[in-house]
Amino acid sequence: MLIVVPKETAEGERRVALVPDTVGRMIKAGHTIRVERDAGTRAGFPDQMYADAGAQVVDHGALFAGADLVAHVGRPGDGELDQIPPGTALLGLLAPLGDPAYVEKLAAHKLRAISMESIPRITRAQSMDVLSSQSNIAGYKAVILAAEYLPKFFPMLTTAAGTIPPAKVLILGAGVAGLQAIATARRLGAVVSGYDVRAVVKEQVQSLGATFLEFDLGADAEGSGGYAKELTPEQAERQRQWMADHIGNSDVVIPTALVPGRRAPILITEEAVRKMRPGSVIVDVAADAGGNCALTKPGEVIVTNGVTIVGTKNLPATMPLHASQLYSRNVLALLDVIVKDAKLNLDRGDEIVRDTLLTQDGEILHEPTKAALAGGRA
Ligand code: NAD
Repeated sequence: MLIVVPKETAEGERRVALVPDTVGRMIKAGHTIRVERDAGTRAGFPDQMYADAGAQVVDHGALFAGADLVAHVGRPGDGELDQIPPGTALLGLLAPLGDPAYVEKLAAHKLRAISMESIPRITRAQSMDVLSSQSNIAGYKAVILAAEYLPKFFPMLTTAAGTIPPAKVLILGAGVAGLQAIATARRLGAVVSGYDVRAVVKEQVQSLGATFLEFDLGADAEGSGGYAKELTPEQAERQRQWMADHIGNSDVVIPTALVPGRRAPILITEEAVRKMRPGSVIVDVAADAGGNCALTKPGEVIVTNGVTIVGTKNLPATMPLHASQLYSRNVLALLDVIVKDAKLNLDRGDEIVRDTLLTQDGEILHEPTKAALAGGRA
């Protein structure tokens, strides 16, 4: 197969879909890899590394002719979609639920579009789970950013000039990003507490040395596939009120709460921010989905009443080397499922294909996208 790796074009995107090591493995498996000039430079992989691994390194104009599969991290822009020949497979974080109209465009271009964020949460697909590999990075980086903005130490220190108490860190949402944030904040010596609507994560939070905050919602909010369900307005309001004091007592709050296909829930109200001491920091890991804090400005860092609110978007792209390496391995693992006898084999009898294949032959196949489009038109 001819696999093509374009340079990402989204603002701030520094990742690349395939790194030279993976390219080398794919070439050994018999594939031809064509990489756009400079595609990996911002991630720490210059063109020479791709050439050494056996890839063709070409200008954008020579990229797509004869391609079987285009491997992207984010979405190709409209201009690029026009250049990809109909029938080509395209994989990437295509965000079908955030903007189902984009999926209509993919169908109109007759692409076979594969959404990497839709990989099912099943044991067989763990090695392809891009949401996990990238959220892990987001959780780590959020703590590093918090430490950067906090005018305090994280660890307890006993010095000749007196004792410094440890920082108090609160992590809201204990999925992949939240658990990594807890582990990272603990490694830096902070006193950490964690909270999630899914009661099942209590033991995971505790096993990382953090305290689990308990709040009775009246029902567990565990939804399908290990994800959370959206709370009712009454539950959400009760939760926000209960949480405000915990937020006020924290030096750092890192919210990571997401509900698939929805705007991120607001967990931190303006009033809760007002309860925080000047110098405190919120790093809103949910900024890409609108933010968990009512005052977050996605893409910006603001200071309000002395509290710094970090709304940096696309945190994984700020650690592009490891983010690309892990993404690349996720893609390699997926190829094991979708390539048979050196040809693409998108067998919809396989759960992984069924969940991720958005479009084929001009048709939208992805049920959640169809439902989102039908809902939007109703
Ligand atoms: P996510 O990114 O969708 O959400 C982050 C966290 O926010 C979740 O833990 C969710 O419960 C929580 N949340 C949602 N609304 C909330 C609210 N109002 N208040 C507080 N917290 C709220 O989730 P994720 O990180 O992708 O992980 C979801 C689950 O899937 C985890 O249990 C994870 O371990 C599991 N998982 C399984 C596999 C697998 O089996 N292959 C792979 C990865 C993750």
